[in-house]
Amino acid sequence: MIPLLLWRCPLCAANDALVHVARRFRADRVYCRACRAEWRLRRVPGDNFYLRLVGTRDERSVTAWYDAMKATLCLEPLHDPAAALEAGEALYLASGPAALQAEATDPLFFTAPEPRHKAAKSQIEGRSVGRGRLFLTDRRLTWLGEENTASWSLARLNSAYAAMDIGLALMVERRLYTVHFFEESLLKWVTYVALVAPLVEAKTGHRIETSHF
Ligand SMILES: [Zn+2]
Repeated sequence: MIPLLLWRCPLCAANDALVHVARRFRADRVYCRACRAEWRLRRVPGDNFYLRLVGTRDERSVTAWYDAMKATLCLEPLHDPAAALEAGEALYLASGPAALQAEATDPLFFTAPEPRHKAAKSQIEGRSVGRGRLFLTDRRLTWLGEENTASWSLARLNSAYAAMDIGLALMVERRLYTVHFFEESLLKWVTYVALVAPLVEAKTGHRIETSHF
């Protein structure tokens, strides 16, 4: 549970590095795979969760650790051979295994005939596109699926929201896509889209909305 919130180590700033070990009769352990920092988890009913850094008296609420984590945020280009980048394009995030859902009438993925009467937006059903990985660069979001690939320019992305039980909800020119990540934090994705959004706005004037993180 903790790594979905603290998706980056607040001490060494490594992504996806924290591990939560639930223990019976003893305080749960949280540790960092990258810097080996270790915390003990304490729950205060009706209040919050607290994490104490082992070997110190540094105990803070999970919210305070989250703020410390946010203070480490920055955009750093990363390398992933699977991402086919254009010249000068910077890769900022590459997901682990994920599942994509699109609108059943989306011509990008489905060849189903358009309904005779154009269905109201609320009546359009989601349909599974399959499994794959999502990539975020300074220019676009790319889906590399087992069966299909697609790219959306960030200048066409209207919003990125965390829908807690569903996944990352992306609105691209009035079409909805949802990406469910099997291993990683949804908040990480919303956060990175929010970090890239000002770059897109500075370059194109286009605004991307994100949910609070
Ligand atoms: Zn660490």
